[in-house]
Amino acid sequence: MSKGIHLLQDPRLGRLYELMRRVNSSTDTAGVLEEIVAGVTEGLGYGVAAISRIQGDALVVSTFSGPEHYRAQVLGRRRPVQLILDAFDQADEWGIIRYVPRGRVAGEFLEGMWVPDCDPVEGADAWHPGDALFGPLYAPTGELLGIMSVDRPPGGRVPDQQQRELLEMFVVQAGLALSHAQHRARLAEQLVVGEMLTKVALAGSLVDLDLVLEAAVRAVAEGLDSCQTWLRCFPETLNGSWEHAAGYPAPNAVTAGIQTLLGDLVRLSEADHGFPIEVGLEPDPGDLLPMSGQALQHKMRLHDATQAAVCPMLVGRDVLGYLVVMRSADQPALTPPQRAGLAEVGRTLGPLVLNARLRSTEQRLLAELQELDRYKGELIATISHELKTPLTSIMGHTELLEDGASLDVSLPAITRNAHRLQGLIDNLLSYSRLQEKRSPARQEVDLAGLVRGSIETLAVQLDRQALSVSLDAPHGPVSVAGDPEELRRVCDNLLGNAVKYSRPGGRVSVQVGGDADGAWLSVSDQGLGISRQDQVHLFSAFHRSSNPEALSIPGTGLGLAISRRIVELHEGTVTVDSTLGQGSTFTVRLPWRPDSPRLG
Ligand code: ADP
Repeated sequence: MSKGIHLLQDPRLGRLYELMRRVNSSTDTAGVLEEIVAGVTEGLGYGVAAISRIQGDALVVSTFSGPEHYRAQVLGRRRPVQLILDAFDQADEWGIIRYVPRGRVAGEFLEGMWVPDCDPVEGADAWHPGDALFGPLYAPTGELLGIMSVDRPPGGRVPDQQQRELLEMFVVQAGLALSHAQHRARLAEQLVVGEMLTKVALAGSLVDLDLVLEAAVRAVAEGLDSCQTWLRCFPETLNGSWEHAAGYPAPNAVTAGIQTLLGDLVRLSEADHGFPIEVGLEPDPGDLLPMSGQALQHKMRLHDATQAAVCPMLVGRDVLGYLVVMRSADQPALTPPQRAGLAEVGRTLGPLVLNARLRSTEQRLLAELQELDRYKGELIATISHELKTPLTSIMGHTELLEDGASLDVSLPAITRNAHRLQGLIDNLLSYSRLQEKRSPARQEVDLAGLVRGSIETLAVQLDRQALSVSLDAPHGPVSVAGDPEELRRVCDNLLGNAVKYSRPGGRVSVQVGGDADGAWLSVSDQGLGISRQDQVHLFSAFHRSSNPEALSIPGTGLGLAISRRIVELHEGTVTVDSTLGQGSTFTVRLPWRPDSPRLG
């Protein structure tokens, strides 16, 4: 009789057909598997039937039918998948079923097995408790999803051909049930990953990058069921700040970023390595994150996480930031669709970060341009005013002369104003020349000598305002390397201002000295002083104090801008310490000449 006719006549088939219907229509996988193992024991007469499912690299018993007192022993039992695969290789093949007679496979396999205690019957085909009978449960793709194992076959004998065929049918149904379950789980997972990607893409419509990251981090944390997720943008420049970051459920503020990840991710991205990178708490065998791995593991411990997946925010191969998804020990590893989803989030966020960066650069440039425009307007107004005042005076006096006025009054006024115009134009030319200049001429210049020269030049004004002046300088020269003309100009400007903005009878004191860092020169007065607000732009061209008393004294607001430029060209600094109404101290610091004796 042919195999087909055998089976069609078998009354046990009714149960099998019912099962097939359930396998195809039910979403209750656990229930269907229960029915299958019950079918094998009650319908086919096996003493024990169990289904184990693959979880990672272990086979875990999930469904059992047989004597109740065995149930607790069997359910949840784990065996390495590899042991079963090795046993398959040595088994007899009965269709898709595998039979391993006692003694054929070595100890390790048996140790992991659960062997029901029963005595074998008589005869050559007697079933022995050490025999093993499995049916591998395959998905249609050929992927092994689990096994069905049976024991105590009907009659205590090794199953005959017909029994094997019937058992095979149940095994096929169990495989289908697992495969349907896997398919459903994958679809559900893809749906969740798809939702996550939609949410991240929608977050991209928010204007503010911080809001984008906040919405995205939440979508990723929920979509990938993570115990902690971080999104961080790397600073734009080496010393830049990390202001753009978000975390969920712990917010961004809790832990600082892992700067070393940048180097690792850049290297991996350039090598076209796939992302995400998965990290456990053990030392990283592939050494994929040599610079940042330990820092990452430290953070994982802070969040009780045992696994983390790291992914860059990418634009092409440029790494703009990173995502870290952490999971705890009781959560399974990320599945391929979840990994792909995470990598896609990284590719979605990269351009968003880039756009935000471009926007902020644009805003900064716009603000700078506006400031420049404002400054240009102010500059034109100031120059016009400074040119116009002496010019008006000169023209007034020439008209007076034409009308026959005395030369004695008009000529000195015309000369004074012409000098003022010349001074302004000289200053303007110097200022513009210094902006172009890159480095000064270098020769030995004694700062104390320069100060003495400036005091001599100012002798008349000092006398006129009844000012006393003191110089405190070491005996020998205080030498720096520089352009003597330019440094003299700085000295003249600082001393000139100290005299100009002093009240009659005041005191101007100058100190020259040096220390390990360089030479210095400081000029103090007890004059008008400068408010904090005016100090902010004091060294900008054409800036003059807003104080009306200071404004009433003629000046161009160019002297300090020129001085600062000269000092900077000499790799030095100029600073001010001043209190409105009490006086000011300006200090210039310059590097020592390479071979000069160091003071201080
Ligand atoms: P000017 O003196 O020609 O206006 P400066 O650039 O030398 O130009 O100085 C800029 C401004 O700084 C001055 O207009 C003045 O308001 C203020 N300033 C400079 N030095 C002093 C000082 N020693 N005491 C008070 N104010 C000062």
